[in-house]
Amino acid sequence: MGEKELSELGKKSVDSEFFTLIPDGYKKGKTKYIIITGSVISGIGKGTVSSSIAKLMDERGLEVSPMKAEAYFNVDAGTLNPFRHGEVFVLDDGTETDMDLGSYERFTNKNLTKENYITTGKIFLEIIEKERAGKYLGRDVQLIPHVTGETKKYFRKLAVDSKADLVLIEIGGTVGDYENMYLLEAVRQLIYEEGKENVCLINLTYIFEPKTLGEQKSKAAQLGIKKLIELGLMPDIVICRSEHPVKNNIREKISVFSNVPLQRVIGLHDSDEFYEIPLMMKEKGLDKEIFEILNINEKKLANHSSLKKWTESMTVKNPKKTLTVGIAGKYTGLKDSYISIIKALEHCEAEFQIKIKTKWIEATEIETGKKKVTEVMKGVDALIVPGGYGKRGSEGKIECIKFCREKNIPFLGICYGMQMALIEFSRNVLNKKNANTTEIDSKTSYPVVCLLPDQKKIEGLGGNNRLGGFDVEVKKGTKAFELYEKEKIRERFRHRYECNPEFIKEFEENGLIFSGKAPKVEIMQILELKKHKFFFGTQFHPELTSRPLNPNPCFKGLIKACL
Ligand code: GLN
Repeated sequence: MGEKELSELGKKSVDSEFFTLIPDGYKKGKTKYIIITGSVISGIGKGTVSSSIAKLMDERGLEVSPMKAEAYFNVDAGTLNPFRHGEVFVLDDGTETDMDLGSYERFTNKNLTKENYITTGKIFLEIIEKERAGKYLGRDVQLIPHVTGETKKYFRKLAVDSKADLVLIEIGGTVGDYENMYLLEAVRQLIYEEGKENVCLINLTYIFEPKTLGEQKSKAAQLGIKKLIELGLMPDIVICRSEHPVKNNIREKISVFSNVPLQRVIGLHDSDEFYEIPLMMKEKGLDKEIFEILNINEKKLANHSSLKKWTESMTVKNPKKTLTVGIAGKYTGLKDSYISIIKALEHCEAEFQIKIKTKWIEATEIETGKKKVTEVMKGVDALIVPGGYGKRGSEGKIECIKFCREKNIPFLGICYGMQMALIEFSRNVLNKKNANTTEIDSKTSYPVVCLLPDQKKIEGLGGNNRLGGFDVEVKKGTKAFELYEKEKIRERFRHRYECNPEFIKEFEENGLIFSGKAPKVEIMQILELKKHKFFFGTQFHPELTSRPLNPNPCFKGLIKACL
């Protein structure tokens, strides 16, 4: 479809069968699209592959804006249980998103915004509000063209607002799900409207290797791709995930069944070296194939050698030391619930050229008496108590923190972890035996952690934490200042409770230092202890801003204290 036709289509939206909203300033072909879908099974690393492709493009000087299009009805990820869906990643603008956004930010070293994340809930909410306001002018509002039309609008709006050369859209879920069908239909229309040379469709699939057979089987992948083709979507590239390197005959079979040339059927087997994935994909020619499909003149792009250097810097071949970091949480059954913390520790591994082993400490097991603190803390060089909500596990966390404070073991308390440290200090140093947070005990005589003033007025649960990036004033002469080397920093928050301002003075008089405060308002944001190797609590989530080659200072401080 030509530029003019597309803009005509945009104008026709109300009284015809067409409903294609073209945002102001949109120029067809200026931004190209890479769409990533998954078939066969979920959990095969679609987020990592998408981030790696973004990195490959970014390396060549192309401006990439990645988007996750989620199929669930939640308006954002704020109300999702991290135990089921992995961590909630908070953007600087306060959007609560899927953990894949964290992966995009880390791989492209960019801050993303609410425009980089859409969900069925967000789109449907907007459509229903528009319908109630009479904006569809008497039309029956339909999946096609309205839902698909509104969806394409989000794709194009990101193209205009980000001014990116490439918008990379990861479609949530698996091909064949009911719920993402409308997203795939929107993609089909987008390809028709934008033209083949402007959209590159990549399908990520899985090659099974049943133990009983001892050989790779491609049937499931073939059926998955067939399902995609049935929806009118011909993949340009197929990436085959597998346990072992994908055999050539398997790639050939996929090629025959999907009309994708052999060099565009790319094997990507499991690797222990996470940071080598972009380079692995590059060595298989993935970037070149994308340039060819999208008609991008590679000769005009920046020359790159930095990916190799980045990969080398991020891969630790000969660790100088091995450390064990304990993480005391309650979602330890699912590592994805703390993925950014794991990544921040990986960034430290590269920085210090060491190996960090994580030891998951299930806090509930300590409070129920199933395990002793001394037992779980055995061999632990440093402890992290991550963010959390609610009662379960809190007493176990407090016991672990007491152990660290008394035994001089480096400790980093994040958000809830910092609040637990305040409770521990109140109970065991200030002798306020039933000190607590009002989140757990609303009638405690020592509410050392209480609701933030703004949170008292709010009802309901969705999107009402204190969210996003805020400035923090760092006090000179403290550990925090030593780590950040700045008086003003910016970090990301997600909380409803805070250190009760009424107790600040008493804490300070007894040796606790509040080294980070919010400007203008009385919100304590960093706490630390003197005469301790490293005892540090942050009301913010330092893991959200840690990046490869630039670990967050709080994590650096924790690890440095162990070395
Ligand atoms: N539940 C605590 C609060 O709302 C801590 C939140 C968190 O750790 N993200 O303040």
